[in-house]
Amino acid sequence: MAEIENRDLYRLPWSLPDNGISWLEPTSACNLACDGCYRENVKESHKTMDQVKTELDLFQRLRKSDCISIAGGDPLMYPEIIPLVREIKRRGLKPIINTNGGKLTRELLHELKTAGVFGFTFHVDSRQGRAGEWRGKNEVELNALRLQYAEMLASEGGIACSFNSTVYEDTLQYVPEMAAWAGRHIDIVHTMVFIAFRHVVPQMPFDWYAGGKQVDWSDIAYHSDRERKVDILSTDVLRKIREESPDFTPSGFLNGTEKADSYKWLLAVRFGNGKNVFGYAGPKFLEAMMAGYHFAKDRYLSYASPGLMRLGKTALLLSPLDRGTRKTATRYLAAALRNPLLFFRRLNIQTVMFIQPIDFLEDGTQVMCDSCPDITVHEGKLVWSCRLEERKAYGTWLRTVPVKN
Ligand code: SF4
Repeated sequence: MAEIENRDLYRLPWSLPDNGISWLEPTSACNLACDGCYRENVKESHKTMDQVKTELDLFQRLRKSDCISIAGGDPLMYPEIIPLVREIKRRGLKPIINTNGGKLTRELLHELKTAGVFGFTFHVDSRQGRAGEWRGKNEVELNALRLQYAEMLASEGGIACSFNSTVYEDTLQYVPEMAAWAGRHIDIVHTMVFIAFRHVVPQMPFDWYAGGKQVDWSDIAYHSDRERKVDILSTDVLRKIREESPDFTPSGFLNGTEKADSYKWLLAVRFGNGKNVFGYAGPKFLEAMMAGYHFAKDRYLSYASPGLMRLGKTALLLSPLDRGTRKTATRYLAAALRNPLLFFRRLNIQTVMFIQPIDFLEDGTQVMCDSCPDITVHEGKLVWSCRLEERKAYGTWLRTVPVKN
């Protein structure tokens, strides 16, 4: 039997015009060169504030959105990051900074907080070519760096803290311990994201075309010259986590454009206090959160505030609506009856997510995330950020056609 069934999960309600997230890239410049990056690192690529404002205008004209993920490149390389955060906040959107963290200082963090930053997503993994004491560290050893960032945010206060990490064939083994680490720091780590590695690689049995013109695969920005595994699925990551945490239970997903049962985004919501994870919310919990937030704010929730993520006990009141929450509440109450001190400890909420980017079907069809949250703007159009280099280099999406034998 399959690990999960899509019909048992809540399909996240996001769509092209009404989504939780939009993705803004003020620069393509970066101070690291991560293995799995899908953006070409271009030094002199900072957009002007006017260009960025025009992109924000386009998002706001075409799409309801809860947050703007400020990405790149590394957005902390962008000289006008403070006015940009202020501008996004002024527009009533949540500014989220997606960074490797290398340029973050306490002073800059404070300035960003004052400007209105809502949250950070730190990309930390072992294939980023970090210098100094982090060079050569594996994913588990890098938990110490993750903790530094989480503690820095916590000491500033009121800022959502997320991490993402690219998962490669040989780093999949570390996922359970990374998830467990996040669970131990559930009070200051609000979201943990695992993204399966994707690249164009020599073993792909396809010819590549821009319109009618064939393109050499080795000219594509995101390619590797050697054979590598590029088909890790969200369910592979789930299976790995369940080796250590058999109870781990996702409740929501985004399907693929061509496959209803592919889990492009797979989301679990768990309740814990740092010592124990008491359980996982079910699909009705997510549905209530999304529908309630949309009813109140006219847009779907993406990042929740640290204050909201601390309200685990209040959230258990949704037990009558949701089986997963009910099971969690039962376990929590049983534990608290054995140890009443638990009632005085905070119960936190944390999301753990797996992202499975582009997949290829045998006939060359490319399966994208249905209702891509990370959609960005290029030449006045909304485009998938993970494939932006194709638009930049060829002016169109590349098609894949099975190689004729
Ligand atoms: S389509 Fe690409 S950019 Fe969009 S959500 Fe999926 S992986 Fe991210």
